[in-house]
Amino acid sequence: MTETTPRILACPTCGNFVKWTRKNEHRPFCSDRCKLIDLGAWADEQYTLPEQQVYDDRYLGSE
Ligand SMILES: [Zn+2]
Repeated sequence: MTETTPRILACPTCGNFVKWTRKNEHRPFCSDRCKLIDLGAWADEQYTLPEQQVYDDRYLGSE
């Protein structure tokens, strides 16, 4: 009944295997860099779609 053995999982960004531990603050990523890359890619994709819709709404409602 000591600590549970750390799980090994693949970093979603680069595929490196990382230990899932409490010490690993970047989990599930292997590093802060991979974390930022993934978040950046995600935010970019999410940003493009809504922005065009907002633009459309304003265009239609302005007249
Ligand atoms: Zn990585």
